[in-house]
Amino acid sequence: MPQQGLLIVVSGPSGTGKGTICRELLRSNPQLKYSISATTRQPRVGEVDGVNYLFVAKDKFQTMIHNDDLLEWAEVYGNFYGTPRQYVLEQLNNGYDVVLEIDTQGALKVKDKIPEGVYIYIIPPSLDELADRIHKRGTDSLETIKKRLNCAGGELTQAQNYHYIVVNDQVETAVQKIETIITAEKHRADRN
Ligand code: 5GP
Repeated sequence: MPQQGLLIVVSGPSGTGKGTICRELLRSNPQLKYSISATTRQPRVGEVDGVNYLFVAKDKFQTMIHNDDLLEWAEVYGNFYGTPRQYVLEQLNNGYDVVLEIDTQGALKVKDKIPEGVYIYIIPPSLDELADRIHKRGTDSLETIKKRLNCAGGELTQAQNYHYIVVNDQVETAVQKIETIITAEKHRADRN
C-alpha cells in the first residue's frame, strides 16, 4: 500500500490571490492533485466546467449532500460550494498529495475529519490592497464586492484555525513558501 498523500487545504479572504497562488503551485508541481469543487454559482467568463469547478444546479447539489458525496460543503456569498469526497480520499489513499482551495467554514469541517492535513491561510499585505485587488478583478458587481469586503475583515480572524499563515506579497514567493511548507510537512518525524 502506498503511503497516504498529504492533504493541503488553502483558504484566505476573497481577493487575496489564493486562486492565482494555487494555479501557480499546481503548474510548477504537476504531481499535486487539485480537488475540483462543485458549485451552484454561475461560471465567470473564461471558467470551464470540470476544470475550474463542477457547475451544478441547486437540486443536483442537494442530491450530492443527500447522498453524502461531499467531504464538506458551505454556503459562500449566497452560493453553495462543496468538495467531492470520493476524488479526495482516493487520491490520498493512492499516495497523491491533494490541494483543496476552500473557504474557512469548509476548512474547519475538513480539519475535523482529516486533522493530519496541513492548513494554510493566505492573507494580503493589507486590507487596502485586498479592496484594490477585488476591484481590479472586475468580474464582480459592486454589490458583490461590498459583500466580499465586509466578510473579508471577519475572515482574517479565522487565521488562528490554520497551521500556517502566508502573506501574499508576491505570487512567486508565496508559492515558494507553500512548497517549503509541503516539503517540511512530508518530512515530519511524527508522520507515519
Ligand atoms: P469563488 O466564487 O470566488 O470561486 O469562490 C468563493 C469562495 O468559495 C472562495 O473563498 C473559495 O475558496 C470558496 N470555495 C471554493 N470551492 C469550495 C468548496 O468546495 N468548499 C468550500 N467550503 N468553499 C469553497
